[in-house]
Amino acid sequence: MNESEVRLIDDNGIRVDGRRLDELRPIKMEVGVLDKADGSAYIEHGKNRIMAAVYGPREAHPKHIALAERAVIKCRYHMAPFSVEERKSPAPSRRELELSKVIRESLESSVMSELYPRTSIDIFIEVLQSDGGSRCAGITAASLALADAGIPLREIVAACAVGKVAGRVALDPSDIEDKQGDADLPVAFMPKSNSITLLQMDGSLTEEEFNQALSMAIDACKKINQLQIEALKRKYVSVKEQAEERQEPKEATA
Ligand code: ADP
Repeated sequence: MNESEVRLIDDNGIRVDGRRLDELRPIKMEVGVLDKADGSAYIEHGKNRIMAAVYGPREAHPKHIALAERAVIKCRYHMAPFSVEERKSPAPSRRELELSKVIRESLESSVMSELYPRTSIDIFIEVLQSDGGSRCAGITAASLALADAGIPLREIVAACAVGKVAGRVALDPSDIEDKQGDADLPVAFMPKSNSITLLQMDGSLTEEEFNQALSMAIDACKKINQLQIEALKRKYVSVKEQAEERQEPKEATA
């Protein structure tokens, strides 16, 4: 540990932000937050603030990208210039291009794209504030936005990373833990089919640490999946209530 580094875990196993090793950061989600997109979701995962928007299925453009047997899924992960401490160039970086690809792959198997041949489904993930684990929070929000767009899904995908911080396996690393940590393992997961749709690893872990990290990530994804389902229900209960309110005055005048 050099002088500029902070002590990430104290003698009682408590982390800099007060969490235990197996504790998630606070998470809030909201579905249907944008009027113009077909589907949208907003997530706060720790200090990450991320908006996801989905268009489609719509005519594939340019036409030559269309596939005869399924919809093409496109994804753009982008960090706003003000999402990190030093202004980030708005131009897409290599990291953003890589994350756009892995996020698309993590969501592709959940989408029943075979129902919409020759169309395209476009996913936009805009990171407004970033604090470690933004690809995972982006996947969680994008899967909700796909559901909100009414696109048939096999399952909702939830994602969470596990890190190795000060020599200990720690769930859901924040930015400082990610930067000073020894390893980072982002995982995306579909609970019903028990399928992992994203598994990456930066740094190194022993086999035992890897198994522990993976099982912590899967448990966390199951919890995040419950929050996703609750967020979807909240939206549809409020839509139903609004529809009922609109109907009531008509019935009263009938
Ligand atoms: P993830 O956000 O999925 O953990 P990384 O491990 O690549 O992805 O990044 C970890 C964290 O590093 C990000 O969440 C963000 O807080 C920070 N970060 C990424 N890119 C930049 C950048 N260009 N400038 C400053 N901080 C950045």
